Amino acid sequence: MRNQPGVLIVEDEPAIAELIAVNLRHNGFRPLWAMDSATAQRELDNVLPDVILLDWMLPGESGLSLAKRWRADARTKGVPIIMLTARGDEMDRVAGLDAGADDYIAKPFSTKELLARIRAVLRRRTPERAAGVVSVGALSLDPATYRVSFSEQLLKLGPTEFKLLHYLMNHPERVHSRSQLLDKVWGDHVFIEERTVDVHVKRLREALGAAGPMIETVRGAGYRLTAQPVPTVASSVQSHA
Ligand code: CA
Repeated sequence: MRNQPGVLIVEDEPAIAELIAVNLRHNGFRPLWAMDSATAQRELDNVLPDVILLDWMLPGESGLSLAKRWRADARTKGVPIIMLTARGDEMDRVAGLDAGADDYIAKPFSTKELLARIRAVLRRRTPERAAGVVSVGALSLDPATYRVSFSEQLLKLGPTEFKLLHYLMNHPERVHSRSQLLDKVWGDHVFIEERTVDVHVKRLREALGAAGPMIETVRGAGYRLTAQPVPTVASSVQSHA
């Protein structure tokens, strides 16, 4: 049974949780249901699932707040989170992704779509985990430990920034368009706007600090990671501030 991916369903509505659990079980997953944040936390403390399905609207601590907390925790930060939300507008979707969710799905959803999303986050995670340490210049990333360092200094990155950097480091010195990055880093769905890439590139540069200029904007084309960035006035001012 161990090779069946475990899915923690955090959902306060029993009918929805039951529907999801039945479908997951029929499709070779091991569903576990937590109806509130405290139960979910206990389950996570006990054993890490392969994926978390997290309802946005929960009694007590919200799904959004839980996502942030689990992303900040070294033990749980690598577990993909798919947010379930009845809210459809863009601000909320961005808020969910900003909180560290890997994907989101709006209620009501088809179980077929949900299964496809779960398989997509699992596929995206697997090659990352299997790969070894990558280095570009003084920048180094270890997918096994989720550690990123620049000149031996450890850097703190969010999960999306980590995936983005990992992809760029595996394909350095090449220009990637926003749509290519969406496809390769976010996965095979079309529900994310291209400007989301810009938001995460900006955040990645900030997180990289002195290594930030290694991520270059190629006007009209996209982004590139380079070992030898062209120094800019702005970055030299920042580094002396
Ligand atoms: Ca709910």
